Amino acid sequence: MGRPQLTVIGLDAATFDVIDPMIEAGELPNLKRIFDEGSRGVLHSTIHPLTTQAWTTMVTGVNAGRHGMWDFSDRDESGYRLKLVNGSYRRAPAIWELLTHANRRVGIVNVPFTWPAQPVNGFLLAGIDAASREAGMTYPTDLLRELRERFDLERLEFDHAFPLNEQGRCDVELVRKACDQRVEAVRWLTERFEPELLFVVFMSADHIHHLCWPEWENEGLESRVADVYRILDEATGAIRELAGDGDVMVVSDHGGGRLNGIVNLNAWLAEEGFLEYATGQRKVRPGEVGRRALYWVLEQRRRLPAGFRYRLKQRFPRLRERAHELKEYTVIDWPRTKAFAYGIFGNVVINVRGREAHGSVDPGDEYERVRDEIATRALELRDPHTGEQVIKAAHRREDLFDGPHIGKVPDLLLEFRDYAWLGKGNLVAQTPTIWDKIAAAPDSEEEYRGSHRPEGIVALAGPSAANGVTLDAGIEDVAPTVMYLMNEPIPEEFEGRVLVEAIDPDRLDARPPEYGEAADVVLQAERSYSEDEGGEVESRLRSLGYIE
Ligand SMILES: [Zn+2]
Repeated sequence: MGRPQLTVIGLDAATFDVIDPMIEAGELPNLKRIFDEGSRGVLHSTIHPLTTQAWTTMVTGVNAGRHGMWDFSDRDESGYRLKLVNGSYRRAPAIWELLTHANRRVGIVNVPFTWPAQPVNGFLLAGIDAASREAGMTYPTDLLRELRERFDLERLEFDHAFPLNEQGRCDVELVRKACDQRVEAVRWLTERFEPELLFVVFMSADHIHHLCWPEWENEGLESRVADVYRILDEATGAIRELAGDGDVMVVSDHGGGRLNGIVNLNAWLAEEGFLEYATGQRKVRPGEVGRRALYWVLEQRRRLPAGFRYRLKQRFPRLRERAHELKEYTVIDWPRTKAFAYGIFGNVVINVRGREAHGSVDPGDEYERVRDEIATRALELRDPHTGEQVIKAAHRREDLFDGPHIGKVPDLLLEFRDYAWLGKGNLVAQTPTIWDKIAAAPDSEEEYRGSHRPEGIVALAGPSAANGVTLDAGIEDVAPTVMYLMNEPIPEEFEGRVLVEAIDPDRLDARPPEYGEAADVVLQAERSYSEDEGGEVESRLRSLGYIE
């Protein structure tokens, strides 16, 4: 069998803060071997270090102003309603599109934001944004059916949601099952398609951080966090075996760590006088309780057997429309609001006249003044327990991003200290204080206990790798390094650099990086989720705490 020239193993959220103590304790032999044979170091993520933007920057080599992928949801034309995004919203070519164009074979598995699975020269299994478990799940389309038959699986396991069992508790066995299954599938696919680039992502480290980070701090090697890293290390070993004597890269899109707390940024903006709630502040709006209850019913409805769901629909024909009304529902009085937040990582939008549907701030001087004032006040926010600063920096979008899609980036980015805090933009409910929380899942006892960190990991081993170098990389350096290792020209549009210090000097001498114009790749057309697809993804993302 033809082995991949390069295998990229993506471990979402993997951090040396867990890996190194485990290696010191004699564990994680497969990751250790890769690190020992080659080079390793920190991979600095995007601001914010959130899966959507981070992976997309990694695989396109350009910033969010160019690729247009920011958060799990995006604002619609009104500027206020959120719609879920998926891989078809990406506006810059990914490395597998460039390689397909160059007639190279690729195998892409579970990279976030690759739904609907697009045609490539090889195969592609969609990632966390995958909606229906049928349509858009794989390329070639028939692959899903074949995979099911081949492995005699009633259903394929995906690590697209938290590993919660039927009792709503975190269950490491579910992680093992999903990882084993992925490795088996990848083994079969690799033998059949012989990809020259194999890129496989595992999401489990991210999930276990969010659910169990304090367990790692208290119980270390005995924790379920350590258990999940052991499973990921085994999977890494198995994929490495498939890679044969080709090059192997290990990457994560960001790190993970403790979560100190969550700020409801809209409640904070209201306190600071930038946002008005539709009815008196801090009062539960009449009907709100009923609305939340209906919301819960609609959520549960998705878990019912199809026949029962059908009867429910007959009995309450307007249920669906009510669901839609709920999405439109907001607690914010837009015309009297100067700025608002959305998402959970600190996205502040100025309500600009002529841009947002009910804008109240004039573009130009007033816009700049409001944005500066919010930035200044944000830096004054203190942890109520320790008195420490909660927000470390406030970035104007144009200071960090550029490109035709910079409009997708919010006006002001609040960077929380170490990202140990999150800044939620709660649009559908008021909270009694600015200090908020995120439930792990509506009916689970688990809570959101861990967060992301800007420091991910990167490592390179194999015939092209230098030995024993400590790397200090940016996430935008991955794409040019992949193109170099595949012996392809590096598009001049790429914003990062080839990680030359990770490469064997003899190889570099023999084959210095070549640059060229990006291939003229035709991007996929934007495809919104249908109502059913959207509902399913929405439930999953809500249960991951990423959307309200
Ligand atoms: Zn991630």
